[in-house]
Amino acid sequence: MSKQMQARNTPGRNEPKPPFPKQHQEGPGLESKLDPRPRYKAEAYRPAGKLKDKVALVTGGDSGIGRAVALLYAREGAKVAISYLPEEQSDADETVKAIEGAGGTCVPIAGDLTDAAFCDQLVEQVVQQFGKLDILVANAGHQNRKKTLEEVTDEEFDRTFKTNIYSYFRLSRAALRHMQPGSAIIATSSETGLFGSRYLPDYSATKGAINAFTKTLAMNLLDKHIRVNAVAPGPVWTPLNASDAGETPDKVAKFGSDSPMGRPAQPEELAPSYVFLASNADSSYISGIVLQVMGGETTGG
Ligand code: NAD
Ligand code: MG
Repeated sequence: MSKQMQARNTPGRNEPKPPFPKQHQEGPGLESKLDPRPRYKAEAYRPAGKLKDKVALVTGGDSGIGRAVALLYAREGAKVAISYLPEEQSDADETVKAIEGAGGTCVPIAGDLTDAAFCDQLVEQVVQQFGKLDILVANAGHQNRKKTLEEVTDEEFDRTFKTNIYSYFRLSRAALRHMQPGSAIIATSSETGLFGSRYLPDYSATKGAINAFTKTLAMNLLDKHIRVNAVAPGPVWTPLNASDAGETPDKVAKFGSDSPMGRPAQPEELAPSYVFLASNADSSYISGIVLQVMGGETTGG
């Protein structure tokens, strides 16, 4: 193992820390414009064929956490489809290239998940392409900070809920028309769904809803042998915060500094937990959990 990789195996030692360059993007943000570029390749990770012959759909797989998950799934042997917004085509192209470079297969499908019909079409397209669907990762998310509740327009509230929780419900419903025993559904929640977050009223509420929906669907699908879990990340260095309309360039520069490790996670530090929850060799007795990947932040209970 190279010296660089040995250093990367020591938790947090070598990961980028704030202050970052001051920056802001219009939403949806592009990973290619983020400085420094997020780490998503998980070079220290050793795949073991855990998802061999599986088919996975990762929403928001063009960038951030979704990109890292899509790549790791492919390295574990899954065929992958990613969804994203049309404006993010260049990021999606890079994800496809990374997956193909690792010897995997990735089908990119652009579309708006706030559109109910697209949620159904997306699942159908994946099944048409690969003949089945074993793993759904409902990861796409929309987030804009607001100082007061007055700033939360009905339109924005709808957009946040339709992107974050309606699509999780709609994609799950569509996926269940095809999923066989042994399949897995995984959602991306957030620490804001556990703690609340002062300036993210609509977003935090969707993440709380994701947690409750995850537990409920997990119970509902026990007899079908389909497991349902969520991952709750702390701050992660992705385009989401740099393109948050309520976030200033100064705040982006300090992103993650108030977390216990004094830094945000890199996407590659999130992806293995999604492998764990998808792999029946790893987590066959786990369903209905919200797995906290929060950099040393702890919760009660
Ligand atoms: P990201 O911007 O890279 O990914 C979010 C993705 O959501 C985008 O790439 C986009 O493709 C997709 N998306 C947004 N609106 C959409 C729409 N209407 N239709 C289709 N796709 C849409 O950022 P990320 O941080 O990797 O976000 C992934 C998930 O992680 C989100 O659910 C987010 O809430 C969650 N999360 C992020 C953090 C963080 O600090 N970055 C922390 C906790 C949870
Ligand atoms: Mg993106």
